Amino acid sequence: MIEKSKQLFERAQQSIPGGVNSPVRAFKSVGGTPIFIDKAKGAYLYDADGNRYIDYIASWGPMILGHAYEPVVKAIQERAVYSTSYGAPTELEIEMAELIISMVPNVDLVRMVSSGTEACMSALRLARGYTGRNKVIKFEGHYHGHADSFLVKAGSGLATFNIQQVPGITAGVANDTLVAAYNNLEQVKQLVAENKGEVACIILEPVAGNMGCILPEPGFLEGVRQLCDEEGIVFILDEVMTGFRLAPGGAQEKLGIKADLVTYGKVIGGGMPVGAFGGKKEIMQHIAPLGNVYQAGTLSGNPIAMIAGYTTLNTLKENRGIYKELEEKTIYLKQGLQQVLQDWGQPFVINQFGSMISIHFSDHPIIDFTTAAAANNSRFNKFFHAMLDRGIYLPPSAFESWFLNNALSYQDLDETVKAAKESLAAI
Ligand SMILES: *Cc1c(COP(=O)(O)O)cnc(C)c1O
Repeated sequence: MIEKSKQLFERAQQSIPGGVNSPVRAFKSVGGTPIFIDKAKGAYLYDADGNRYIDYIASWGPMILGHAYEPVVKAIQERAVYSTSYGAPTELEIEMAELIISMVPNVDLVRMVSSGTEACMSALRLARGYTGRNKVIKFEGHYHGHADSFLVKAGSGLATFNIQQVPGITAGVANDTLVAAYNNLEQVKQLVAENKGEVACIILEPVAGNMGCILPEPGFLEGVRQLCDEEGIVFILDEVMTGFRLAPGGAQEKLGIKADLVTYGKVIGGGMPVGAFGGKKEIMQHIAPLGNVYQAGTLSGNPIAMIAGYTTLNTLKENRGIYKELEEKTIYLKQGLQQVLQDWGQPFVINQFGSMISIHFSDHPIIDFTTAAAANNSRFNKFFHAMLDRGIYLPPSAFESWFLNNALSYQDLDETVKAAKESLAAI
């Protein structure tokens, strides 16, 4: 029964475009009514009708420790009485920056912002300002937030709703954005050769998570890194999704790959609106007030956001074992799902890396956007609803990764596999 969610969705559409403040939440591609959340604790979401769901979105990544993690809640409560914003520097911001630098390789200086979008658009501007070049190479199906330059052949909601071209983005901006297929080094080399001396930066998701979970093929990231070195191109790793999720040092640590600039979001705020970009001093010193590449934010480094982020990151730093636990849980889930999918007998692919995992109903490997889009995604939509009916909250699109949180118990995972078995029989 989701009567209350239905009523709320009706009401929401009177005052909010499409009834939601971020498109994928509307369930438009999977159909049906979005579930309105009342509260969450640990691994569970509770909707407005009082139904409980095992959560595999974790707010799209941030709630890696589980919802309402007590030290985070307590830190926010204690801090809030001293006012929620000053617009002036605080010691807490230094502690946050020092903590990030201590966890992440190749970051000398870091600037806090309020979202992953801001982090990526600021890193792009910085790369342009630093190199004096205009063009950016991105990858089809990768999502770097909703800044104009990145909305060309992007993943996440744009892939979900099949939006090829976004109205409102000028031809000039679109022409400066070059697009290659993920895992296709030859195409990247060709684009660089055709635009010699004009490419400011290459930006990518080291492990793609906005078209389902897709792993980098051996040598791909290393090849891009080498190309950037040879051509004086700034290599931006978008770790908004992978940062502090795959390892304390993100994909840079887990995959042993070095970024010139790196962007963060999601986990870094522990559920509050936080983003960050950072890198070597040589590049970062071009940011105002040190340099002339302007970037600012009224609520950047907000004390409540900082204390939530700091407490989350510090927990992860002090308890590295969490990453092993999360990965073991994810592999356990993968094995359980593999078994029921095999018994079911139709083609499928499970891609998994660390605590990111996704299912594609596909008879071919999923290695880039073309292969992800060619999967049987209407089957995924049915699977999604069958799972939701059984109390399992998956991302409402095949073009999204699932995220495990460490509050999930093995019993929750068993329950999920059981629901998958029933769901497959029902679709
Ligand atoms: C979510 C995401 C973004 C955008 O972050 P927002 O906080 O939603 O603006 C950018 N890059 C990647 C890889 C993401 O997954």
